[in-house]
Amino acid sequence: MTQSTSPDLPATGAAPDERVIRPEVPPSGFGCVECLAHPEGWWVHLRRCAWCGHIGCCDTSPEQHATRHAHESGHPVARSFEPGESWFWDYERNEPTEPADGVDLVPPVSRPVPQGSPAPRDRVPADWRRRIHRVGVEPPPEA
Ligand SMILES: [Zn+2]
Ligand SMILES: [Zn+2]
Repeated sequence: MTQSTSPDLPATGAAPDERVIRPEVPPSGFGCVECLAHPEGWWVHLRRCAWCGHIGCCDTSPEQHATRHAHESGHPVARSFEPGESWFWDYERNEPTEPADGVDLVPPVSRPVPQGSPAPRDRVPADWRRRIHRVGVEPPPEA
C-alpha cells in the first residue's frame, strides 16, 4: 500500500504509529524537563516524546525521565533527541518502532551538538560514570 506522508492521516484504519506519533508537535526544549526543574538534575542522553514533545532523559541517566513519562502519560513512543540519531522506541512493546514512510518529527530533531553529553555540564558531577545506569550501552566518551 502506498501511504501518504501527510500528517492529517485519518484515525480510522491508521497504522499503530499514527495513533501515537504526532510529527507536527515540536520538542519542549533542549533539556530534560524534569531534570531542568531540579537544581541538581543532569542527564546522559535525551529522548523526545513523539506525541507531546516532552524531552526526557534516557535509561542510562540517573532519573530515567523519558521512560517515566511514557508510563505515566501513556505516550508510548519516543524518538532519540541525540545528534545523528533518528530511531524511535516503543516503551509499551519495549522494542524499536518507526513512523510511516518518510515521516519524521518536525525540527529540531536533536539537541544542539555543543551542549554535549552528559549535560548540563555545570551540573554533571565528577563521578558521573558511577551514577549512571548500565543498560547494555556504553556511556559516551567524556567530551
Ligand atoms: Zn531527566
Ligand atoms: Zn508525551
